[in-house]
Amino acid sequence: MSKKPGLTVLAGPTAVGKGTVSTYIRDNYPEVWLSVSATTRAPRPGEVDGVHYFFKSKEEFESLVAAGEFLEWAVVHGQNTYGTLKSTVNDAIAEGRSVLLEIDLQGARQVKDAVPDAQFVFLAPPSWDEMVRRLVGRGTESAEEQQRRLETAKLELAAEPEFDHTVINDDVRRAADELVSLMGLTPNPR
Ligand code: 5GP
Repeated sequence: MSKKPGLTVLAGPTAVGKGTVSTYIRDNYPEVWLSVSATTRAPRPGEVDGVHYFFKSKEEFESLVAAGEFLEWAVVHGQNTYGTLKSTVNDAIAEGRSVLLEIDLQGARQVKDAVPDAQFVFLAPPSWDEMVRRLVGRGTESAEEQQRRLETAKLELAAEPEFDHTVINDDVRRAADELVSLMGLTPNPR
């Protein structure tokens, strides 16, 4: 059965293309309110503070945690810390917006505890081999980092049954349209 909530959480394994799907949604579905996470990771070229992430120092992030400002937060790939700020998400839900969080599995589990009636969508790769190819093909991480991400991905794939729906990322536009439909919105005409 489909939930029609204000809050949808998109999670899935490393390199499955969550970022690409959410970027497509940001560019093509202005009616979706895409949450901007806080992170201690350094900005990549082209990333803008307040648009892609709120870039924070470790100290700033820790004080937000201590102040209870996060709906969820997690250390991702054993490296940097990422989190969703309660204030912005709650305001958007209160305004009746369709809110989308693109977060990792640990974060999705925390949201499930805090907001059980949210909708949880698992983004799956077409196959394991395709996922490895995408991860290696991206070429932005060291071999050691790629290995670490693959280990995380294996654990993350096993989490699929915890989710309300699975969307297969065989094609970014198709996957984004399916996700938007699950959010109760009408996909753009082709
Ligand atoms: P990247 O550094 O490549 O932008 O993101 C790395 C990972 O962090 C992705 O798997 C993404 O889903 C996850 N992530 C981004 N924002 C958040 C967040 O607010 N909370 C959690 N738990 N994970 C996040």
